[in-house]
Amino acid sequence: MREYEKNIRKVEPYVPGEQPQNKVIKLNTNENPYPPSPKVAKALKEMEADRLRLYPDPTCGPLTEALADFYHVKPNQVFVGVGSDDVLAMCFLTFFNSRKPIFFPDITYSFYKVWAELYRIPYECQKLDENFRIVKEDYYKENGGIIFPNPNAPTSIYEKLEVVEDILCNNQEVIVIIDEAYVDFAGRSAMELIDRYENLIVVQTFSKARSMAGMRIGYAISNPRLIKYLNDAKYSFNSYTMNQAALICGVEAVKDREYFEESLHKIINTRQWAKGRFEELGFRCLDSRANFVFVTHPKYDAKELFEALKENGIYVRYWGSERIEQYLRITIGTREEMEALFEFLVKYMGEF
Ligand code: PMP
Repeated sequence: MREYEKNIRKVEPYVPGEQPQNKVIKLNTNENPYPPSPKVAKALKEMEADRLRLYPDPTCGPLTEALADFYHVKPNQVFVGVGSDDVLAMCFLTFFNSRKPIFFPDITYSFYKVWAELYRIPYECQKLDENFRIVKEDYYKENGGIIFPNPNAPTSIYEKLEVVEDILCNNQEVIVIIDEAYVDFAGRSAMELIDRYENLIVVQTFSKARSMAGMRIGYAISNPRLIKYLNDAKYSFNSYTMNQAALICGVEAVKDREYFEESLHKIINTRQWAKGRFEELGFRCLDSRANFVFVTHPKYDAKELFEALKENGIYVRYWGSERIEQYLRITIGTREEMEALFEFLVKYMGEF
């Protein structure tokens, strides 16, 4: 090893799902199969290129205000970033600086481990139970902070707010981050608790329910004190994180509540129908409260099925990691896309 190499920060990066450029049935990265609000399309079309001459508003004023309005909080309780990945990375940097380990589940969003390693934050994974549920008592031990998604990914399991509150209640001396990328498909958000727990941060995204993964918008909601700490870290890193188009389109998306709810309902309906179809075909399908399902079959090997699907132009996600090596995570697509998936599965099983 060369001398200078000793001083290079080496990381094992997060591996995102594939983004194939040819036409496939894409059920591998939990995108929304429907387009964003037509108001977003209109704003994008009308955006003048001349606006790109100037730096965007570093405070993200109108977008922050639109989100504050939507969630009935004050603008100084909102922080926006380039997707929730950016917001979460900022949160790790800002809030997880203890020598004690941060806690997150053993089966969860694999980026947590990567950020912890990147920033050299000690961490300890807490094992989900045999039904992939959080064991809240595991989080009563001393720690340097807590983060988990609700619903969890890739399991799709949603924990009731009582579980979240119990963990908060027992951890008032550390920052607790609830990653709610999928909460719109689930139920009550932990945002209800922000007035009662000053150590709580709730992170959400435009990538799923608002169909804007390509625009990269995420946000955190908390109390003004913690939001200020986040902004201080952001301004020490890059003041202009949000581009002009994202700021303009984001506002339009938030304002179109009707379209948002309509698209949510379509996905939830397809999810319920798809769960039934999976079960008819002998799959075990966890009780999903997200825009994806997590399935396993007692007779068919998950990796082989994953590969067969891919060969036939249907992309789903497979990890092969401990405890989930027989599971596939499948995004809920349109009804037509899901029908094509089931048509393939019936054929695949028939040939075995
Ligand atoms: N949290 C969870 C649990 C996720 O699954 C994802 C999507 N990969 C994200 C955060 C990040 O999403 P985005 O950066 O698109 O907001």
